Amino acid sequence: MAKAVLQALSVAVIGGGWAGCAAAMELARAGHAVTVYEAARTLGGRARKVEREAQDKLTVLDNGQHILLGAYTETLRLLKLSGQDPSDVILDLPLQMRYPDGSGGMDFIAPRWPAPLHLAWALLRATGLGRADKVALMRFSSAMRWMGWQLYNDCTVSELLERFDQTDRLIQLMWRPLCLAALNTPPERASAKVFVNVLHDSLGARRRRASDMLIPKTNLSALFPEAAARYVESHGGQLKLGAKVVSLQALPDGRWQLNRAATHDRVVLATSSSQAASLLASVGDPAVEGVVAQLQAFAFEAISTCYLQYDTAVRLDLPFYALVDAPEQAHWGQFVFDRGQLDARQAGLLAVVISASGRAAAQGHEALAQAVAAQLAQVLRMPQLAQPAWTQVITEKRATFACTPDLPRPANATGLPGLVLAGDYTTGDYPATIEAAVRSGVQAAALVCQINTPATKA
Ligand SMILES: Cc1cc2nc3c(=O)[nH]c(=O)nc-3n(C[C@H](O)[C@H](O)[C@H](O)COP(=O)(O)OP(=O)(O)OC[C@H]3O[C@@H](n4cnc5c(N)ncnc54)[C@H](O)[C@@H]3O)c2cc1C
Repeated sequence: MAKAVLQALSVAVIGGGWAGCAAAMELARAGHAVTVYEAARTLGGRARKVEREAQDKLTVLDNGQHILLGAYTETLRLLKLSGQDPSDVILDLPLQMRYPDGSGGMDFIAPRWPAPLHLAWALLRATGLGRADKVALMRFSSAMRWMGWQLYNDCTVSELLERFDQTDRLIQLMWRPLCLAALNTPPERASAKVFVNVLHDSLGARRRRASDMLIPKTNLSALFPEAAARYVESHGGQLKLGAKVVSLQALPDGRWQLNRAATHDRVVLATSSSQAASLLASVGDPAVEGVVAQLQAFAFEAISTCYLQYDTAVRLDLPFYALVDAPEQAHWGQFVFDRGQLDARQAGLLAVVISASGRAAAQGHEALAQAVAAQLAQVLRMPQLAQPAWTQVITEKRATFACTPDLPRPANATGLPGLVLAGDYTTGDYPATIEAAVRSGVQAAALVCQINTPATKA
């Protein structure tokens, strides 16, 4: 049971991504003196805004188009605490997997009915799936429900799907895109256990709203990190942008020194896993060698987002579509989002997402953008989409860790007093996602100062 706060502590949060911002909010809420050190000039880390200035026009993009789930309970809780009204900043859509008409896909959309009725109805009404596909899907979800959505032995997602006789069509149109979108790892290499955890919260959720798909209507920095920063400052905390921490030292009195200058009682290390490894190594304590080795062992997968600007009159029939991913035809795009339906200032801007994008990005950004434009023109049957006014491809090479079976993930505790880790890579049920980062930040805050947070209360 967590103890009540007796004394305000000075806490450094290193990293202003979603994990660091979540930790900083929780610490500020508990009355501690928080200082956030962020190496970049922009808050948000791997979910942040990117400004594009061309021909005297500023367009605010994101480093990658993101989608959240209604099951992201901690993210939604902190979003509200930071003063954001989710209905102002998020487009809330029912669970769906909708491909453009005539593109060889399917149309699956859950009505806003109580779970699990909404799924049964969606499945019954789905077009583009045959009887065998529907029966296989029904069998799979009944089996998972019966197993409590838990796998005791991990394997790859492909092995799991084979074990449950999932049809090729279902794998191509449903399981593969879901696995790529959620785990950013192809089913052949992805962890079935983590995949089932995500399915539990979406397909298997008891609350229908948990399976909703949430699309940000603002840029990602404005959505949460900047609102979190305002909350922290209004609670007496400080924010240092462009402040890279390069060394950490334990002082004899138990405090911590950053960059051989500032001292703090406690530290939350909320950088990426590789930066955390080098900062932990800088402490020079053999007690953390195991954790450092674990942090250095992660492999990564890339995500590319291709932005295409068209005439402002261009609008899709839906805010987003799934696309049949067929690299052999240079159809690299997996999802397309109509940003104009999220923010009127972005009319005519489409964002196409490619997860696990190593091969796609290797085509070169220009060739990739051309291929994506041609794919959109063909599958959406809108020839004008072949000729965008401009394109920009952003590839995050280390977007997330590769979420493979039985992957060891470090705990928040480092073994050193007063120094904890926070980030999407720490132990948890979720793959590397915004919710994993936020939950990790909340847990780190609770651990480092023994505060009671809603997530840690018994
Ligand atoms: C392109 C892309 C698309 C994605 N799509 C989705 C999605 O649709 N849904 C979803 O839920 N998740 C998605 N994710 C994953 C999600 O963005 C991440 O899991 C999450 O943002 C990780 O947050 P974090 O705080 O753990 O780490 P980070 O975001 O990496 O934050 C670490 C921060 O620490 C800072 N830092 C690093 N070193 C130092 C230092 N020495 N001193 C000071 N500061 C430092 C960095 O600048 C950074 O701001 C996507 C990720 C990418 C890249």
